[in-house]
Amino acid sequence: MLRRLLLYLSNAAWARNMATRWGVARRVALRFVAGETMSEAVEATRRLNEQGLLVTLNYLGESVTSPEDAQAVVATYQNLLQQIHDQHLQASVSIKPSHLGLDIDEDLCHANLKQILATAEPYDIPITIDMEGSNHTDMTLRLYRRLRDADGFNQVGTVIQAYLYRSEEDMRQLASENAHIRLCKGAYLEPPEIAFPDKAAVDANYIKLAEQYLTGSDAAYLCLATHDEAMIQGTEAIIRQHSIAPDRYEYQMLLGVRTDRQAELAAAGYKMRIYVPFGEAWYPYFVRRLAERPANVLFFLRMLVGR
Ligand SMILES: Cc1cc2nc3c(=O)[nH]c(=O)nc-3n(C[C@H](O)[C@H](O)[C@H](O)COP(=O)(O)OP(=O)(O)OC[C@H]3O[C@@H](n4cnc5c(N)ncnc54)[C@H](O)[C@@H]3O)c2cc1C
Repeated sequence: MLRRLLLYLSNAAWARNMATRWGVARRVALRFVAGETMSEAVEATRRLNEQGLLVTLNYLGESVTSPEDAQAVVATYQNLLQQIHDQHLQASVSIKPSHLGLDIDEDLCHANLKQILATAEPYDIPITIDMEGSNHTDMTLRLYRRLRDADGFNQVGTVIQAYLYRSEEDMRQLASENAHIRLCKGAYLEPPEIAFPDKAAVDANYIKLAEQYLTGSDAAYLCLATHDEAMIQGTEAIIRQHSIAPDRYEYQMLLGVRTDRQAELAAAGYKMRIYVPFGEAWYPYFVRRLAERPANVLFFLRMLVGR
C-alpha cells in the first residue's frame, strides 16, 4: 500500500515541485545521490574505486520532452565519458532511454544512444541501457539489439526486471544471444496482469531467472543487482553449484544502500559495482528508493521531526 502510494508520488509533478523546494528532502535524497554536479560524482567514483568497488554512473533524469533537451543530455554523457577516461576511473555508464528522448521518438533515442556509444567505444567504457516502466520494455530491448547487432557496438547491455511475467522468455532469448544483462526485481508500479504482485513470487522468479541465465549459455554476462540477502545467498549457491566462472557475473548495489555488505562482497573477491547517480533531477529516483524500504521513510520522517 505504502509502496504503491510512493510509486504514484514518484511520478506526480505536484509532489516533485513541492519536494525539490524543500531543503530537508534534498538533504535526505543526497544520501542516495553523489551530488548535483559531475565533479561530485567523479569524486565519489574515485573514493569507491579506492575501496575496491567498481562504479556505474548515471546522470539523473527521465521523460525528456524536447529533442534539444535530449541532445543536452547526450553532451553531458559525452563529457562524463571523457572524464572517466581522462581520470582513469573504473566506471561504466547507465542511461535511462526516456532521458534520451524515447518518449518523443524511438529513432531519436537510437540516434542519441549511438552518439554516446561512439564516444564510449574507443575508451572501452561499457554502457547499460536501464529499464523503465513496462510501456518501454519492447522499445528498450529493440534499441539494445539494434545498437548491438545493426550498429555493431559490443560494449552495450540492458536490464531485465524479475517482477514481469514476460522476463522468463526475454531472459531465455537473451541468454542465447550471449547478452550482457542486469537482473533486478523492478522499481515501477505495474498491474497484476503483467507483473507478480507479491514479493515472494518476485523473489522466487529472481532466483529462477538468475539460474536459467547463468546455466543457459557459456558466454552471457549477468549483473546481479540486489540488496536482498536472500537473493545474494541464493545466487551465490547457484554460482557454487554450477561452478560459474567469475568473468560471467558481478554483483551490483545502489550508492548508500547496504554499504557494509558492498565492502564485504568485494573483500570476498566478488566483482561489486555501485550505481552512482548524480544531477539535479533526484526526486523520482529518491522516491523510488523510499518505496523499496519502509525504514527509509521512517528515517526521512525522523529527520523532519528532528529538524
Ligand atoms: C545497480 C542497480 C541497478 C538498478 N537498475 C534498475 C533498472 O534499470 N530498472 C528498474 O526497474 N530497477 C532497477 N533497480 C532497482 C531494483 O529493481 C529494485 O527496485 C531495488 O534494487 C530493490 O530491490 P532489492 O533486490 O534490493 O530487494 P527488496 O525486496 O526491495 O529488498 C530486500 C531487502 O534488501 C534491503 N534493502 C533494499 N532496499 C534497501 C534500501 N533502499 N535501503 C536499505 N536496505 C535496503 C532490505 O533489507 C530489504 O528488506 C536497480 C537496482 C540496482 C541495485
